[in-house]
Amino acid sequence: MTQDNLRDDILHHLKFTVGKDPGHASSYDWRLALSFALRDRIVEPWFASTRKTWKEDRKRVFYLSMEFLIGRIVEDAAINLGLQDTARAALAELGQDFDALADDEPDAALGNGGLGRLAACYMESMATIGCPGYGYGIRYEHGLFRQRFEAGRQVETPEDWLTQRHPWEFERPECAYTIGFKGDVHEVDGRAVWTPGETVIASAYDMPVVGWQGRWANTLRLWGAMPTTLFDLERFNRGDFTAAAEPETLARTISRVLYPDDTTYQGKELRLKQEYFMASAAIQDILRRYLESHEDLSQLDEHVAIQLNDTHPALAGPELIRLMVDEHAMEFDTAMRIAQGCLGYTNHTLLPEALERWSTWLMGTVLPRHMQIIEMIDAAHATAHPDRPASVAIVRGNEVHMGELSFIMAHKVNGVSALHSGLVKSTLFHELDALHPGRIINVTNGITPRRWLRLANPGLADLISETIGEGWEADLDRLKGLEPHADDAGFLDRFMAVKRANKAAVSNWVSATLGVTVSPDAMFDVQVKRIHEYKRQLMNVLETIAQWHEIKKNPGGDFVPRVKVFGGKSAPGYAVAKEIIHLINDVARVVNNDPEIGDRLKVVYPPNYNVSMAETLIPAADLSEQISTAGKEASGTGNMKLSLNGALTIGTLDGANVEIREHVGAENFFLFGMTAEEVVQRRKNVNHARMAIEANDALRDVLQLLAEGRFSPEQPDRYHGIVDRMWHHDHYLVASDFADYQRAQAEVDAAFLDRDRWARMAALNTARMGFFSSDRSIRDYMRDVWGAESAL
Ligand SMILES: *Cc1c(COP(=O)(O)O)cnc(C)c1O
Repeated sequence: MTQDNLRDDILHHLKFTVGKDPGHASSYDWRLALSFALRDRIVEPWFASTRKTWKEDRKRVFYLSMEFLIGRIVEDAAINLGLQDTARAALAELGQDFDALADDEPDAALGNGGLGRLAACYMESMATIGCPGYGYGIRYEHGLFRQRFEAGRQVETPEDWLTQRHPWEFERPECAYTIGFKGDVHEVDGRAVWTPGETVIASAYDMPVVGWQGRWANTLRLWGAMPTTLFDLERFNRGDFTAAAEPETLARTISRVLYPDDTTYQGKELRLKQEYFMASAAIQDILRRYLESHEDLSQLDEHVAIQLNDTHPALAGPELIRLMVDEHAMEFDTAMRIAQGCLGYTNHTLLPEALERWSTWLMGTVLPRHMQIIEMIDAAHATAHPDRPASVAIVRGNEVHMGELSFIMAHKVNGVSALHSGLVKSTLFHELDALHPGRIINVTNGITPRRWLRLANPGLADLISETIGEGWEADLDRLKGLEPHADDAGFLDRFMAVKRANKAAVSNWVSATLGVTVSPDAMFDVQVKRIHEYKRQLMNVLETIAQWHEIKKNPGGDFVPRVKVFGGKSAPGYAVAKEIIHLINDVARVVNNDPEIGDRLKVVYPPNYNVSMAETLIPAADLSEQISTAGKEASGTGNMKLSLNGALTIGTLDGANVEIREHVGAENFFLFGMTAEEVVQRRKNVNHARMAIEANDALRDVLQLLAEGRFSPEQPDRYHGIVDRMWHHDHYLVASDFADYQRAQAEVDAAFLDRDRWARMAALNTARMGFFSSDRSIRDYMRDVWGAESAL
């Protein structure tokens, strides 16, 4: 019955929505038809959710994020609707293969990495829990660039997902707001009047986000930028076509591309415009919706919670105050209090180079009224705290500090792991914490088990359901029920058979796409994440070279076979990260073509790591590399995905690694390296790098091989920069942690040789990761930040 209906709907959409004859339809056409048929089934629960929220006047949560790293949607929607098997069967009747169609979908890559992926997991969890919510972001025409390697170097090409039809969005041209920039502020009858010098239109595109079992659906509303005047007809008629289209081109620039970096701050005018564009459209939309059913804005904070995903949307605060004061004639102090009641701020980084600051000149030029309001906020805070240190001022050194602005505007500020939140308190916002005790809290990040286990690893998901019953996807603590089976040889065999099958699939894929043969019996040692010095891919590749060197020195020796898997993109302008990419590829070339090495060591680095590649690689991982310099990785979520899928972690006490280790048990985690405090102490010794290298023969040999050009014979000095930085700077303490990293890697080898022990450890990782479901994170936010309740 449902299968017949779905089949008929797919055919109907193929003909009447896509406009294709089934006899001549491509797999693209079939995928669109399938998407429309699935989307139809989200619409009813979506309407019902909105109606219920409205009728019960529920508190709504608005999640503001410049990034949503969604990935593919078809399979996720099918799974949450409980229609995956039905869709597969319906398509089979039509001569189509569900998996092939699903794999044909381009990733929605509207984000850089962890921060954007977190926003996507949170949208899905809010829908699963029934938390009435909206996501607000930008509908970038071009998401994160595509990565290719040319002679081992990263080359970026534009991403073009929207050249295909995007079947999951509903265009809402009637839902549009004017966004102003520049111009002047005048006083009229004692009130500020801002007359913008430029305006664009923010136009809404809605994507329904359906939760597990289709019980609730929320909206992800993405804004596209449109011109206020389409084009200059007079110029056009004169034949000056380029000039006629200029206003349109300029306006559309705002939602044209995602900035390809979220770990360094760049004071670019276009980025400031993007941030204000999103924040203003969101706040205008929130107020419009609220005033449809409320008299005035005096109770706004009882009905509206606004979460800032990092400081990128922080102009939402001043914008909210501007609209309340300038447009709704509210007193500034009242507006400030209400805005604070609405706003929560999530900090994602302590890295000084990533903390957003805008020159007062740029802010004053692009957003003159907001600059005034920011100064009023700062003055009000100074008045309320007359002895506040100058270092906490929002405006200081001719810059607007978005972290301080976000902190002062929010009633709750949270870090993203226990360790990180502690450091936010003790370092970044130490003085503000003293003025506002209790404002800083922790909400440890999480991941959605629907995508990161049920979808990505169906073999393991089915084994879990057979073992502990159905329904764990929405109650991940139930994985604890696997623990007793960790002593059951039959269960462990099946657990490892799933892993073996996932590895075989990756091995086939690697062979087909990279032309490198890897044995599925080798240990798959995986480091997939953005390339950044603090994440220390360099340490991993140096250790890889050390391992290669060991085998070369002892070619008859016994070594545990390993496949080193790397994945990740560098920001286009990040020269050091790009050198590391080049080095990994150069090492791969030498190692993989060395007949003396054979299966004992392989290095693979498939280009263009994204959500879909993560879904393929993570279920095949034996070892998860989480080796950042302690104190630098705020949380990490890749670490959670890998552990949940039965990979053991080799890691430092950084970010959520600390909590993962506590949950899975210290005996099931390979710990190494300095603590965050030790890192701070160690850096005080200016000779830390040289001392560590001189004390470690293996590391010194590796650097010597690099200096000699052993991995870049065509350009022997290619890695002199890396070698020089290792000896003389080594800001992220690769050398100081190297020996302990090698020690831990040797322990990993020993554990892997004992297959039963390894299987038990891996299964216990899966069994004990329930805490890291993003459902738990969202419940924490609902209780501790938003004051929101499930409507289910
Ligand atoms: C989860 C994820 C990340 C974050 O990985 P970390 O290891 O936490 O940095 C980045 N990119 C993609 C595609 C992901 O799925």
